[in-house]
Amino acid sequence: MSTNDADNERMQLRWPIDDVVAFAKRHAITHGLLCLDPNNLDLATIVPFSLFPSPYSYSHLKFIWSIQTAYNRLYNRISLDDETLEKALKPVIPIDDFIERLWKIHRTSTRRQPIQLDIYRNDYMLDTKINTMRQVEFNTISSAFAGLTAIVADLHKAILRYAIDNCYVRELTMDNQQEKSSSIDLILPNDALKKSAEAMIKAFELYNNVNAAILFIIVPNERNICDQNALIDAVQKLKSTIRIHLKTFEQLTDELLLDEKNFNIYLKSSHDEIAIVYYRAGYIPEHYINEKCWYVREQIEQSRAIKCPTVRSQLAGCKIVQEYLTHENIIEKYINDENLSKNIRSTFARMFTFDDLEARQKNINLLRENPHDFVLKPNREGGGNNKYDDEILNLIEKQENHLNYYIAMEKILPPKCTTCLIKPNGKHLLHVECINEIGIYGTMVTNVDTNEEYINEVAGYLVRTKTTDTNEGGVATGYSVLDCLDVS
Ligand code: ADP
Ligand code: MG
Ligand code: MG
Repeated sequence: MSTNDADNERMQLRWPIDDVVAFAKRHAITHGLLCLDPNNLDLATIVPFSLFPSPYSYSHLKFIWSIQTAYNRLYNRISLDDETLEKALKPVIPIDDFIERLWKIHRTSTRRQPIQLDIYRNDYMLDTKINTMRQVEFNTISSAFAGLTAIVADLHKAILRYAIDNCYVRELTMDNQQEKSSSIDLILPNDALKKSAEAMIKAFELYNNVNAAILFIIVPNERNICDQNALIDAVQKLKSTIRIHLKTFEQLTDELLLDEKNFNIYLKSSHDEIAIVYYRAGYIPEHYINEKCWYVREQIEQSRAIKCPTVRSQLAGCKIVQEYLTHENIIEKYINDENLSKNIRSTFARMFTFDDLEARQKNINLLRENPHDFVLKPNREGGGNNKYDDEILNLIEKQENHLNYYIAMEKILPPKCTTCLIKPNGKHLLHVECINEIGIYGTMVTNVDTNEEYINEVAGYLVRTKTTDTNEGGVATGYSVLDCLDVS
């Protein structure tokens, strides 16, 4: 047994895990690491989390942190470039009803609001094949968990402190533990919530009507309420007079009023003019349960309200746009700094589509021969949509023409770590092999007519951890848990 193994064994013996788990759950409940119970929406349940922070390399984090503002600018500019958007989306517009619908709204809307507000989350995993951070996807709509991610960091600190106070971990003195905790804060401040709120306030001020309100569009029976309410609280902490309304698309079919003279939108019940529409719904077809819901989206897009995101910005987040950006000399059009574009390019995994007839058969053969090396991804959000391994082979054999809905992406192979997960039903999985996905939040407030950037910031980070036997991601979908990093 190596010294390390012996140390590990001693450590494990000293952690009476049930006691630590019970402490962690109490702490999670006290500090609002909660969502609604799927079986009873009158009750809350703990959002799944890991008991300990995952070890991570500082240099890799620093790297993705350092390129985020350039990434923000890149996606902002892509969203404004109709020619590039159309070229990128061209293969899917005729075959994907959802994308086609969004594209039509974009093409038939007149831009009446120069201020654009975006809250992005750029997701990565470390690829052990080349020891490089690689982008999983770039989210431009409903970037969730900014309201909960910092709670997990505090939870991990509290767990370590509890273990120290109870002499479960004798090796760590409080002094070096404090050093360790504060070094986490110093290296990677997690202001995702505050900075999202600040961006919203800045956009609100630029809308220039102190009496206007903010509208959050949510899904019916939303479960992730602590995350959303944390954002509401953070906004109202900065400006206590702002009114924030939460409505579903269906409620808005009766509630929303577009004044066709000045293109302001109002809520009928409160008579409030809406300055900002913030979407926590609208990223999958199922959110538009009828034509009237689509009409609501169209009216908002036509209006003077600031949208987070605009339809064009939502479209820029499509996986096929991510694939298009890997083509030669595309990102260089938007990023002048050679070093930055090289660094951004280094995060791209290999991707390809199936619309190019010349390359199609070669690409299909490549997938058929190496199904385990790729992921097939449709232009959808929210987790649970991708195809892996035998599913890829099945699709090729049985529904080859469906391949056009997907982009193929090289599989990223992240390093494995061992941790303890507190799962949705409160059960814990002890010493499970896991992998981490790191999201970097980016906030932007721009005037798209003048190119002025009022805010372009790296806002914070999200860590999601899942067992190695799970292909998919997503906390809401039950695949992943929230986590934090130990970069010491
Ligand atoms: P969504 O918008 O639905 O979240 P993602 O691109 O994030 O779509 O895919 C969902 C999950 O699938 C990710 O969280 C990740 O766990 C896994 N995944 C996606 N792309 C890759 C990849 N190239 N290699 C390995 N896993 C991937
Ligand atoms: Mg996504
Ligand atoms: Mg994702």
